[in-house]
Amino acid sequence: MEKKYDYIIAGAGCAGLSLLMRMINDPFFIEKKILVIESAVKNTNDRTWCFWETEPGIFEPIVHHQWKQLDFFSNYFSGSLDIHPYAYKMIQGIDFYQFVMNAAAAYKNVSWLHAQIKSINNSSDLANAQVALEDGTVIVADKVFNSILFAPIKVAQHQFYFQQHFKGWLIETTKPCFDASKATFMDFRVGQEHGTTFMYVLPVSANKALIEYTLFTEQLLEKSAYDLALKNYINDFLKIHDYRIVHEEFGIIPMTNAPLPRQEGNIIYIGIAGGQAKASSGYAFKFIQKRTAGIIESLKNGNPLSAISFSARKGHLYDSVLLRVLHERKLNGDLIFASIFKNVNAADVLTFLDNESSLFTDLRIMNSVPTGVFLTAAIKELIPIK
Ligand SMILES: Cc1cc2nc3c(=O)[nH]c(=O)nc-3n(C[C@H](O)[C@H](O)[C@H](O)COP(=O)(O)OP(=O)(O)OC[C@H]3O[C@@H](n4cnc5c(N)ncnc54)[C@H](O)[C@@H]3O)c2cc1C
Repeated sequence: MEKKYDYIIAGAGCAGLSLLMRMINDPFFIEKKILVIESAVKNTNDRTWCFWETEPGIFEPIVHHQWKQLDFFSNYFSGSLDIHPYAYKMIQGIDFYQFVMNAAAAYKNVSWLHAQIKSINNSSDLANAQVALEDGTVIVADKVFNSILFAPIKVAQHQFYFQQHFKGWLIETTKPCFDASKATFMDFRVGQEHGTTFMYVLPVSANKALIEYTLFTEQLLEKSAYDLALKNYINDFLKIHDYRIVHEEFGIIPMTNAPLPRQEGNIIYIGIAGGQAKASSGYAFKFIQKRTAGIIESLKNGNPLSAISFSARKGHLYDSVLLRVLHERKLNGDLIFASIFKNVNAADVLTFLDNESSLFTDLRIMNSVPTGVFLTAAIKELIPIK
């Protein structure tokens, strides 16, 4: 079958478009024929990304709002978090999609196809990869970067699968109610009966804030429960009674230590399909940026595309330990996060959540939580009983 493209990017979401943005920013890829295949029309603000970084990244021009101060609330510890040198940043989905699509429009080597992908396979001689569309068309490329999860994640015995599910309301108040210079990172003072549950509040002006009800649990809630929780929180904790809902978002992110493939021959997995959602937090945006930047460097230098670093392996182990503690209900998530933020500098915690902390910081974090419970869980992770 004739090869038409050097690269196919399967799925134009966060990972696919992050990779594309990095390709068009780099002259190495100017001669490469790139095809982006996406089934959806990406013209809605379907999600809001938050992440932290110390330096401006490639998406700095579309940062919608950022905060240098974050608050944390729980029944065990509440306080203001010192996140310096990080800034906590927000990007709106619609701005992201338009930014990358507008930038790519100037590049003749980039083509777009609005189509539903049925499957992606390596050719039998492993010389290239083939993307089969629902209409029967097959398109061939040297490499396919796939961000599509074609089947539910398989979870084996001794692995854990939580869902981070959340509903957010962007509300507008009649009177000024918010301080847009600070955000609430986590507020655990809400009911914990379903499992680890918190609110976060992201004010973008004195009258507007995104408020999200977030849970890390194995089961989803009834639809009405999310709305009720948001309504009660706005009323009881924020003491706001006069507001309108401008926008709503709902999301589910897998939080699992089940391994997802990073590469199979000429198919390279990116985004959530490539295991880029951190299992203990659900944050994926920063991991997607690191992964796509790493792919660009590897393609340019001829290095392996999917090597796993020591810090990533270490992070995976810590995530597995936390998931085990939550699954076995040895401790509640609110107590764990409160203990960490009470005892460890918040910037160090953010570095830890990025899988970039030193062993010294890791030890301080381990020391901040009930050691016996975590040590037992760590031993079970290191020596799984069959
Ligand atoms: C509402 C929401 C809010 C989030 N907020 C944050 C946050 O604040 N911070 C953070 O770090 N992470 C966040 N995440 C997690 C993560 O960053 C996002 O899910 C992110 O979009 C994942 O990127 P992705 O490329 O893996 O998947 P997606 O962005 O979902 O991209 C996959 C693309 O593939 C397309 N597609 C799917 N199937 C097919 C098919 N068969 N054929 C063709 N195209 C197909 C989809 O339409 C989609 O465009 C959030 C997730 C959600 C859902």
